[in-house]
Amino acid sequence: MRAAVITKFNEPWTLKELPDPRPQPGQVLVRVRASGMCGTDLHVHHGFLPVQPPIVAGHEPTGDIVEVGAGVTDLRVGDRVGAFWNQKGCGRCDACQKGEPGACPNAQTWMHVGGGNSELMIAWASGCALLPDGLSYEAAAPIFCAGYTVMSGLRNADPKPGERVAVLGLGGLGHLALQLAKAVGLETFAITGQAGKKAELEGFGADEVLVSGDDPGAALQRAGGADVIASPERRPRSSRTDDDQLRQHDRSEPRPGNDGAEAECQLPPSQDANNGRQALHLVATTQLFNDQ
Ligand SMILES: [Zn+2]
Ligand SMILES: [Zn+2]
Repeated sequence: MRAAVITKFNEPWTLKELPDPRPQPGQVLVRVRASGMCGTDLHVHHGFLPVQPPIVAGHEPTGDIVEVGAGVTDLRVGDRVGAFWNQKGCGRCDACQKGEPGACPNAQTWMHVGGGNSELMIAWASGCALLPDGLSYEAAAPIFCAGYTVMSGLRNADPKPGERVAVLGLGGLGHLALQLAKAVGLETFAITGQAGKKAELEGFGADEVLVSGDDPGAALQRAGGADVIASPERRPRSSRTDDDQLRQHDRSEPRPGNDGAEAECQLPPSQDANNGRQALHLVATTQLFNDQ
């Protein structure tokens, strides 16, 4: 199989021919059809993650299952799937014993089984989800990291019908947060510093676009505040987005003023282990940044 291999940090990736992998018990072999590029891939490229070259990155993969390992009963050859960052807990630690493999410190990820920038990849069956019919591989791929991250936060914030979500920071995560919040029927405010983005953000589902200048908090306050603030920016432009802009009993996701990823992890763990998985991925990255 061909794969884009990181042979050395901070150097161009190299297309190489590698042996076709075979699935071990509990694993599946996926013919990759799309592999999203995430900001975290830059951190892999720069050597900020605990993995050493040669490595194949790619943690937003989708594709078709072409082989299943022994013991896999819930996935079949031909299934269209995507694979998560955190694919399997160790089954033995406190977190796994509590049924929260997403918090497992020894979880299996793409760093253990290989990433998706490759014609074929291995994934743990427990770390795959079926793609809905009609959803393209390309559209689904970024949902396995970026979409997953913001949807986890949104679910943790537990918005009620009719509530308003303000999305601060309309980059890779924010534009998905906006679309997801709109798709589940919430009122959506997009807060941006760039007036030129207004039409684009309305296209993504913003009921109102607040062009904020340097003070998104003040802009939101003037507009009446929100029930949930989704702030996926790693470093929000202003720490003034705080409780002043939240309506009563409301919550911010992640808590603004902090590193967004770190803040997300302070939210209570969800019933769904997948939420914890994503949070774990993000906190790990955050800690690495802090160590740089
Ligand atoms: Zn990612
Ligand atoms: Zn464990």
